[in-house]
Amino acid sequence: MKKIITCIGIRPDIIRLSQIIKKLDLYFENILVDSGQHYDYNLNKIFYDQLGVRKPEYNLNIKSGTHASQVAKLMIEFEKALIKEKPSFVVVLGDNNSSLGFALATSKLNIPLVHIEAGMRSKNWLMPEEKNRVIIDHLADLNICYLTEHKGNLLREGINPRRCWVVGNPIIDVVHAVKTNFKQDSPFYLVTCHRAENTENEKNLRIIITFLGELYRKKNVEIKYILMPKTQQMMEKYEINFPEGLNPIPPQGFLEFLGMEKEADLVISDSGTVVEECAILGTACLTIRESTERIDLIELGVNVLTGMDLEQMLSAAEMAISRRREPVTHYGKNIAEKICNILIGNSLNFYKFRER
Ligand code: UDP
Repeated sequence: MKKIITCIGIRPDIIRLSQIIKKLDLYFENILVDSGQHYDYNLNKIFYDQLGVRKPEYNLNIKSGTHASQVAKLMIEFEKALIKEKPSFVVVLGDNNSSLGFALATSKLNIPLVHIEAGMRSKNWLMPEEKNRVIIDHLADLNICYLTEHKGNLLREGINPRRCWVVGNPIIDVVHAVKTNFKQDSPFYLVTCHRAENTENEKNLRIIITFLGELYRKKNVEIKYILMPKTQQMMEKYEINFPEGLNPIPPQGFLEFLGMEKEADLVISDSGTVVEECAILGTACLTIRESTERIDLIELGVNVLTGMDLEQMLSAAEMAISRRREPVTHYGKNIAEKICNILIGNSLNFYKFRER
């Protein structure tokens, strides 16, 4: 059996990779490496427990820090694991700082690199995630895309088509594999907001909180706001208070949160994974950002990109709530199996495509 390494950076990586890891384990000697970027129980271990993902062989324990210190620490620690394990290839998902560190360390040692979630582009170069995506896609020897338009982005950037594969979105397998556990009879809206472009920007954070306060005044529907520790710190720093009707709650387990997404009358989020899950569930959803890489969901009419204008945000909420629920179907199915299929079929050969 070929030895490979599968890398886990942060919470959504554990979730998205949960089904893929189970499949890879059947056909490869698969070493799991967790960056340790998320280390609280409710941001890390709970997802392993709830999704039945086995304990990683390595935890690099990088914790939080500036962008440079996180990426640097991760590269130093991961390089040691790479040298010891000598994998045939390394699988990395997503666009967070850990993904970048994993990709750089792998590529520097000339070990073949596979990137899942390749080709997404918001075209907003100020986002840290956008820089990470572009760099990882260009380093990767094999790019696995969710949608054809993501492959199109890679081709436009000059990436060899032989390095690009389109398989569908693995989150659909995860949503269908689990049994959620949340029930509430009274109506409610659900909010997650923790991207740097919103929380580290005082103006945007104020607009978002004002919008949620106004929405409650108009609708009189409870708003549950998942409050991440970093967002709480920023709210304290900017002296922003929660208006009436906006109830902060701690980060939830996946089974609870997915259940909330199912039950909510409206989800408001700046998370990429959350908006995809709502599209799969058919839940009304707003993206509270100025740009998005999930253009497919806007075109399908199942998500509104609100921008940061209060009036526009309120109108977008009205429109989303009044819309008929219609789950999307374009993400495909059995994505974990398709990814395995490509890696098994190609694992002996794909590094010959490393010519750029
Ligand atoms: N999630 C969760 N509990 C919460 C909030 C989110 O389990 O309290 C899940 C959510 O269902 C989704 C993922 O975490 O699968 C989204 O994570 P995040 O927003 O951190 O990442 P992004 O999608 O922005 O990369």
